[in-house]
Amino acid sequence: MTEEKARQTRGGVVKGYAKYIKKKWGTDGVLACQRDIGELGFEVKEDAWYPEEVNVKILQWIADNYGLEYVEKAAASTISERGVVAYAAKLAGIKKVLERGVEDYYRNFNYGKIDIDISDNQAMVTLTDSTSNEVDCVSWKGALKGVYKLVNKTGDVQEIECCHKGKGACKFLMTWE
Ligand SMILES: [Zn+2]
Repeated sequence: MTEEKARQTRGGVVKGYAKYIKKKWGTDGVLACQRDIGELGFEVKEDAWYPEEVNVKILQWIADNYGLEYVEKAAASTISERGVVAYAAKLAGIKKVLERGVEDYYRNFNYGKIDIDISDNQAMVTLTDSTSNEVDCVSWKGALKGVYKLVNKTGDVQEIECCHKGKGACKFLMTWE
């Protein structure tokens, strides 16, 4: 019998949310979140691997305390506020950034699969065996919205199929001007 590999995410993902919580709700917010989700908290290393649960708990904490709207906003900010990367992204354009997103995914998650089918003004992003729950799906929707901000574009993201609603994968349709 083969042992299933534990699902893990890079500390950088957790740190991105921690940064948003600090910016939005201050040190009190960070302390409250640490207290509520347990001792691992935010003492994480950017490149180290952490159990998927850490990320799931943070997203749930934001949802429980502030609503799904803020899960989406937090995820968007983890993508759009990347300093030098953001500058390069504006020059590279949305297609290059999405192509790069595939690489980013496998760097940050040791589970699941991402496929991005890009055409002129839209892209279909398919996540298979990836999202943990429906709150996580909202975070992906937000992250993809963050891509628009990163490249200075206006666009929409809709989750058109969801693996937590009886489908085989979560499919996000991105459409932009
Ligand atoms: Zn979904």
